[in-house]
Amino acid sequence: MKIPLAGVIGSPIAHSKSPALHGHWLTQHGIPGYYCPMDVAPQDLQTVLRALPKAGFKGVNITIPHKESALALADSASPSAQRIGAANTLVFQQDGQIYADNTDAYGFITNLRSGALDWQPADGAAMVLGAGGAARAVIVALLDAGVPQIILANRTRSRADHLAQTFGPHLVVIDWDKVADHLSDIGLLVNTTSLGMTGKPPLSLDLTDLAPGAVVNDLVYAPLRTPLLEAAAAKGCVTVDGLGMLLHQGVPGFAAWFGVTPTVSEQTRRAVLA
Ligand code: NAP
Repeated sequence: MKIPLAGVIGSPIAHSKSPALHGHWLTQHGIPGYYCPMDVAPQDLQTVLRALPKAGFKGVNITIPHKESALALADSASPSAQRIGAANTLVFQQDGQIYADNTDAYGFITNLRSGALDWQPADGAAMVLGAGGAARAVIVALLDAGVPQIILANRTRSRADHLAQTFGPHLVVIDWDKVADHLSDIGLLVNTTSLGMTGKPPLSLDLTDLAPGAVVNDLVYAPLRTPLLEAAAAKGCVTVDGLGMLLHQGVPGFAAWFGVTPTVSEQTRRAVLA
């Protein structure tokens, strides 16, 4: 029997935490498999994907810049991947066919629910900052959870308008410089921009009007406690960091490739941060 293999394809890939995550789960469950990082250029993606099943790969995670191309190259795709318009998890089937999934929406909502136990989607509007790939997954997750309205703001407004056209009437777009004026209307604030990441400027936002009962979730996980989360915590808001989304999005892929559904715990967080 071939040793079960999986990995993550991106470019660059050295920064990825997925090898630490899946390596931890493989060890925890005593599975004699491997999960490796693979730096693949865009022009080589198709060739690599078609060859990997022959080497014993059960599937791969896909990250920047290949998420859209991987969906296009796949033979079939989950409804989630189709709606988000990108794939982050590929499963190679017995006959070599490639099934594309996107587990970012699942990872986001699972992390949010486990970090903010009292949050109820029906309680009020959510505000999403950003209109890139991560925002699409967050919007799909919030709509599926039953959030009545999503207020969307992005530096480049046209990208937010495009998302509103794609995802429909529950989305309302506001200008980037009007975000603070709408904070009193929301029960959940989600940052999907890269602001606040190590090496990027912080997301500077006056949280005065945000209700202390609101939940603030930052998708940025390096650093773990972003200036946004620190400011929200100082107001008494429930804060949820981005690491849990990364951990939870890995669960469905691991289960499909290695046949065991792993859990996300404090021990998992420590293993990935180590
Ligand atoms: P992306 O597609 O490149 O989108 C980047 C977003 O950030 C865009 O909305 C962009 O606005 C905005 N942005 C960048 N620089 C900005 C600035 N100086 N001022 C205002 N807005 C700015 O990236 P992505 O894949 O959506 O990822 C976004 C963030 O989410 C990254 O930090 C990533 O690490 C994080 N993420 C975390 C997870 C997780 O599991 N926790 C998963 C996915 C992503 P414009 O449209 O105006 O350029």
